[in-house]
Amino acid sequence: MMLNNVDFETYFKHYPDANGYFGKYGGSYLTPELQNAMNEIRDAYFTICKSRKFIAELRRIRKEFQGRPTPISHLERLSDSIGNGVQLYAKREDLNHTGAHKLNHCMGEALLAKYMGKKKVIAETGAGQHGVALATAAAYFGLECDIYMGAVDIKKQAPNVARMKILGANVIEVTHGLQTLKEAVDAAFDAYFREHETAIYCIGSVLGPHPFPLMVRDFQSVVGIEAREQFVGMTGELPDAVVACVGGGSNAMGIFSGFLNDPVDIYGIEPLGRGTTLGDHAASLKYGTEGIMHGFNSIMLKDENGEPAPVYSVASGLDYPSSGPEHAFLQDVGRVKYDVINDEETIDAFFKLSRMEGIIPAIESAHAVAYGIKLAEKMGKGSILINLSGRGDKDMDYVIENFGIR
Ligand SMILES: *Cc1c(COP(=O)(O)O)cnc(C)c1O
Repeated sequence: MMLNNVDFETYFKHYPDANGYFGKYGGSYLTPELQNAMNEIRDAYFTICKSRKFIAELRRIRKEFQGRPTPISHLERLSDSIGNGVQLYAKREDLNHTGAHKLNHCMGEALLAKYMGKKKVIAETGAGQHGVALATAAAYFGLECDIYMGAVDIKKQAPNVARMKILGANVIEVTHGLQTLKEAVDAAFDAYFREHETAIYCIGSVLGPHPFPLMVRDFQSVVGIEAREQFVGMTGELPDAVVACVGGGSNAMGIFSGFLNDPVDIYGIEPLGRGTTLGDHAASLKYGTEGIMHGFNSIMLKDENGEPAPVYSVASGLDYPSSGPEHAFLQDVGRVKYDVINDEETIDAFFKLSRMEGIIPAIESAHAVAYGIKLAEKMGKGSILINLSGRGDKDMDYVIENFGIR
């Protein structure tokens, strides 16, 4: 498929380029010292992760530890309730070990750390989901794990903090500034700079400086590879549309990567939260502008000083003022359509999927479910594959407290 001079037949060979650019987005904007440390990860990625030994070991782990492949489920009752013949399907990343897609890249990153001879993995976490996945991977490989987390987030996310500690990770409280994700990112970068001889930094989405958007996409592409084969096996054809929620964009890049060169409409769904006012949503691709933050160039939501704006979403995993550079690129090229779903629509979908299919989705994933339902109503025929990025056990108390039982 050709679109605006981009050939999707050979897309993965050329995007990103050698410097980590997807068109004008991506790259690596770091101090020279930090760049040197990052170059070590980049070089290791291109040698170690392409080796047959690494790939074979990761495959074995995916099967024996993570429980992959995850299935695709036909959402029959939900499809019937729409009633126009459109069939909805879900790729069940909620059934991946730890209950979400994040372990797909964390196992890859921690295996890379092991092959590089590092003793420790370092990361920041906001809601704690990335911290839990990385702590799981670190326990599996016998690595130390330092997770930087804002003091405000530590208070809000007690169950995930407990999980990380049980798994043996050190949760390091960050107490400056607003004491949330942005400060935690800075603290984790600082720690990596100090400890890069014995540790590697592990980012939690298709974000950050090169090579992370590439590396995390590659580790997540297992979702799209499995999904394409499974869907064709189940139905004899490709889906007409694929839908995923976009925070940083890793679960979306995972499933999208399986279908970029196919005649399939692809939709990335951002959180519209309470509405279109800056501060009430986290729809960076829809409402943001080009800018550099956390070491990469992408589309971001900015405040009046050009700094990353405060953002909000009912789903803490989608609560980030930018998105991966590859999404900014795919939007510009027109290969992926980005749209939004608000809190209300999300909570409705959360209950619909629970009641009609017996699957309690993560609130993040419920954004994709809500859009899938809307799209089905509009399409009138065909099939839609939704990436169900995670399970909703972590969200149940919050939903009942704030929205009641519907
Ligand atoms: C973290 C998270 C997301 C958002 O991250 P992406 O990098 O955009 O995929 C989505 N769903 C779940 C369940 C998550 O934990």
